[in-house]
Amino acid sequence: MRKALAVVVCCFILATGYIAYVIAERQNALQKFARYNDSWAVSQTVGEYVRFESLLAEYALGIEGVDKDELRLRLDIVLGRMNSLREGSLAAFIDAKPDMRKVIGEVDQLLGDVDKRLEELSPAEARALLPVISGHVPQLTSVAAESVANDVEIIDAAHAEVRKLHIIYTGLAGGLILCGMALIFLLLRHNQLLDRAQTKLTLLTEELQTATLELQSNNLRLEYDAYHDALTNLPNRALFRRELVRRLDPPSGIDKVALLLLDLDGFKEINDTLGHDVGDSLLQAVAARILPIRKNHELICRLGGDEFALVADNLDEDQALDLARCLVERIASPYHIGDMEIKIGTCVGIAISHRQSHADELLKHADLALYEAKRAGAGSLSVYRPYMQSQLAEKRSFEADLQAALQNNEMDVFYQPQVSTETRAVCGFEALLRWTHPVRGRVPPAEFIPVAERTGFINALGKWVMETACKEAALWKPNIKIAINLSPVQLHSSNLIQNVVEALEKSNLDPARLELEITESVLLGNSDQTLAILDNLKAVGISMAMDDFGTGYSSLGNLRRVPFDKLKIDQSFLSDITSSQDALAIVEFVVGLGRKLRMTMIAEGVETEEQFAHMRQLGCDQIQGYLIGKPVPASELTAYGIYA
Ligand code: C2E
Ligand code: CA
Ligand code: CA
Repeated sequence: MRKALAVVVCCFILATGYIAYVIAERQNALQKFARYNDSWAVSQTVGEYVRFESLLAEYALGIEGVDKDELRLRLDIVLGRMNSLREGSLAAFIDAKPDMRKVIGEVDQLLGDVDKRLEELSPAEARALLPVISGHVPQLTSVAAESVANDVEIIDAAHAEVRKLHIIYTGLAGGLILCGMALIFLLLRHNQLLDRAQTKLTLLTEELQTATLELQSNNLRLEYDAYHDALTNLPNRALFRRELVRRLDPPSGIDKVALLLLDLDGFKEINDTLGHDVGDSLLQAVAARILPIRKNHELICRLGGDEFALVADNLDEDQALDLARCLVERIASPYHIGDMEIKIGTCVGIAISHRQSHADELLKHADLALYEAKRAGAGSLSVYRPYMQSQLAEKRSFEADLQAALQNNEMDVFYQPQVSTETRAVCGFEALLRWTHPVRGRVPPAEFIPVAERTGFINALGKWVMETACKEAALWKPNIKIAINLSPVQLHSSNLIQNVVEALEKSNLDPARLELEITESVLLGNSDQTLAILDNLKAVGISMAMDDFGTGYSSLGNLRRVPFDKLKIDQSFLSDITSSQDALAIVEFVVGLGRKLRMTMIAEGVETEEQFAHMRQLGCDQIQGYLIGKPVPASELTAYGIYA
């Protein structure tokens, strides 16, 4: 479009220039018509010359009325005319023709002579002069004729030129009109395109605005998502950290920051038994309970899992404790999820910042306080104290000691007998791990097993127990079984089966003599993966016992789904069995159930004959407990007469 416009504009400029040139040319051509005056001037000269000649003839004849004055007048006119022949284009025309120049020269000379002699010229002299003057008339006439012919020629050429210029002029005018029309068309088209572009631009601008708004809202959403927990909509750990750092920064003007860390009690069990959907709903409900506590600038976050945090400004220790109590109370009241009523508590760890506290430091302190609260039991509160720091150091050194215990030969396997209720004859032993530390002394399994589970060391420890106990049991009579405890952590380790098979192969123990004890909590996840592992273990030929039955979130469905061979009634029932009718009823029910499922029933923690009698009466197959024998090292097993 621009090119077309440029071409049209150039055409205009050229055409205008050319028109100016054509007009100038036309002017020239028109000037050529003036040439017609030349032939007229020559013929006038000839006429005047003839008139002078005839006047001279009259003078020579002495005709009355013709005097010298009149002759002078005529001669001057002729001389004037002759002078005009020596001017302008006519002079050039005459000069170009030698014969014409000669004629004019001769006439000039003749008239010059006459001019000089005129005053004394007598009629007789005039008579003598006449033939000379007359002699030049034909020559002058032919000069006039030639001049006329020349003028006619020039005028014809000028005519032709004017015609040509006229045509060009007309063409140019037409061209200009066409160019003008093209220009108008192009301008209209240009306008139309501009209009369209304008509309398009408006549309694009609107689209851009919409896209920008969308982008802004997307960015806001992304930022929100990055800093919020999707389940509870509470700020997440990232926002918590950022906010904590900001509040601890002196320019925030906040003197003291109180950090309360919350960890729900037994959430994992609820999540595992009732399912993740219920767990999620419970977390949402807990979040909804905590949220109304926020009054001023408290920040309430979910740090992950069942951990929540509350950051409050300018609270002293008592106020923070009050707030924590309020939180514990709120969270503790029952929740109604679906048609279930669920109860859950929380522990709270509190840390209060001092001058120049760092976010990580404050978080660590609150963490230590929470750890302490957890140790104190469900629903506990704890405020950070410096001794917790040394406790942490102790925890670390305990872990390090445990890690080295196997290498340092500090571990031992003790064996506790299991007997038949009917005959009191030993039918097996449970392998129980013992750790004797050179400084700490005898460390109970209840203390180090959970630590080993947390650090993952239980896998190495369990493998060692398995190998040691299998090797020992292989020395016993073939009817004596060995029961080995299996931690849930071990059960989920990928090389469990391999370890069991290796232990059996190395010791050459009949798999039928090996019994693995697992607590029912192992089944809480109840994933297909767990069931597959248990099936694989059974496929090796070993038997499975459910340990501590009745203490966890017992699900009778598990008994059906998992191929247990033995059920161990937890010792907590045994201690109550003689005093509580309810405990007795439960045990009676469990024994009946086990029998129906064709499982061997064993009661553990039997300490008195009374308990023994009860169990026997209820039809429990086997008994384990201090009444029969405490766990002893292998070296003390000879008394049982079990060696082959
Ligand atoms: P558990 O499997 O329930 O083991 C039975 C616990 O009850 C043993 O405590 C045993 O010494 C104790 N006990 C036995 N008879 C009586 C009794 O008549 N009265 C009382 N009051 N207690 C009795 P221990 O040896 O301290 O073991 C505690 C827990 O540590 C075990 O509970 C078991 O869960 C775990 N544990 C022990 N050894 C191992 C092991 O080698 N591997 C794994 N994974 N866990 C182990
Ligand atoms: Ca056990
Ligand atoms: Ca047990």
